[in-house]
Amino acid sequence: MTPLLTYRQVRVGGKTIGTVGLPELFAALHQQGQPPDATATGYLLDGVRRHNYIPPAAAAETAEALLRKYRRFCEQQSTGCACASTYGTWRGQPRETIPWYPTLREDLCDGCGACLRFCTFGVFAAGDDSFGSAQDKRRVEVAEPYRCQVGCSACVAVCGPGALVFPPRGMLEAYGGG
Ligand code: SF4
Ligand code: SF4
Repeated sequence: MTPLLTYRQVRVGGKTIGTVGLPELFAALHQQGQPPDATATGYLLDGVRRHNYIPPAAAAETAEALLRKYRRFCEQQSTGCACASTYGTWRGQPRETIPWYPTLREDLCDGCGACLRFCTFGVFAAGDDSFGSAQDKRRVEVAEPYRCQVGCSACVAVCGPGALVFPPRGMLEAYGGG
């Protein structure tokens, strides 16, 4: 059976896109000794394109975003704080098959960071300050959606502008919850 590839969200050009297979790609490049510098961008882009469609017009911005994610991954490896590659199960199902996590509405988010300080599960991360626009730098992103606790939506209450959105709770019935 083909192993389930890990889902990750990446901010590209001020937008959040979903990808699969990113941690696996990062782990393979890191194992090969690839440093997180400009020489990695071609490998990152080619690797991510194996499982994801990247429009040619977005290739440069995507490569920058991938590189900053890879840099963070390498830092985590060097400090012994590696990203989880699996997220366990919920009611017997792999967590990554359950689409329960916050979506951050960038048109409403003011970058206050309240959600980041509130959630103790590491779902949110501060926007990277190595690349990207000034807008990116003040933003918060949903960096680890599958660390979100299924059924929890507590962070909605700390978000003044109402920028955090969850699926309808009723959808969990299809996964054995509700
Ligand atoms: S609490 Fe809301 S407004 Fe503040 S950073 Fe989080 S999503 Fe954005
Ligand atoms: S719903 Fe709960 S677990 Fe999920 S991101 Fe918000 S505070 Fe964290």
